[in-house]
Amino acid sequence: MARTFFVGGNWKCNGTSDDVKKIVGVLNGAEVPPEDVVEVVVSPPYVFLPLVKSLLRSDFGVAAQNCWVRKGGAFTGEISVEMLVNLNIPWVILGHSERRLLLNESNECYIWNIQLLCFSLQFVGDKVAYALSQGLKVIACVGETLEQRESGSTMAVVAAQTKAIAERVLNWDNIVLAYEPVWAIGTGKVATPAQAQEVHTELRKWLHENTGPEVAASVRIIYGGSVNGKNCKELAAQPDVDGFLVGGASLKPEFIDITRDRI
Ligand code: PEP
Repeated sequence: MARTFFVGGNWKCNGTSDDVKKIVGVLNGAEVPPEDVVEVVVSPPYVFLPLVKSLLRSDFGVAAQNCWVRKGGAFTGEISVEMLVNLNIPWVILGHSERRLLLNESNECYIWNIQLLCFSLQFVGDKVAYALSQGLKVIACVGETLEQRESGSTMAVVAAQTKAIAERVLNWDNIVLAYEPVWAIGTGKVATPAQAQEVHTELRKWLHENTGPEVAASVRIIYGGSVNGKNCKELAAQPDVDGFLVGGASLKPEFIDITRDRI
């Protein structure tokens, strides 16, 4: 099954409105492959979503970098799925390792006590399920730390992270799975094409066994971790690498080279 190549740009917590306008200017002037060849989605910080949405050309998608796990309400500082839908933001990145590790978002169950109400929730899986239920598309991130890789548990870790999503989701049409080894994110230490392909193959096998052949064949599994204009070609040549989630390089003009990698 042909899977449309996907290139996401995660701008993280960077920039001012002037910086954002400059990046959007570069993107708007770029020559990139048509949408049915490469799907391009950029993810600015929350406060710039409306600005980017209003300025960016319509063949590029826009993603939020996170959202609240349930319907909005008394959750100060959070941004709800309903707000994203209201702003016509089609995508959200969930389970990014910077949120899993720095902000404690987890596969594991927490007992929450909010206004005397106890919830038990698997945070990332619940977020994915809720975002999908409200019509958003999700870039769901999984990946192991260096310690986990060195102890030989890479596949166990990414399988557990994927399982936490699969247990809550029946339809995978609107999910892109991003394999992002934590040791490669923002470090300049990119996975080798063979390392990326190995995990992507295993993930596809896991999907085949746990969600069925159709999902396994159609879900795009993208790689993230120090992708740049130089290393993208070899990675993209791997049969199970269906695109990239790009952090640092997505703030630079070389992001365009990464989207053009397929032509
Ligand atoms: C990311 O933040 O998802 C990422 C892959 O970052 P970088 O490309 O900077 O490693």
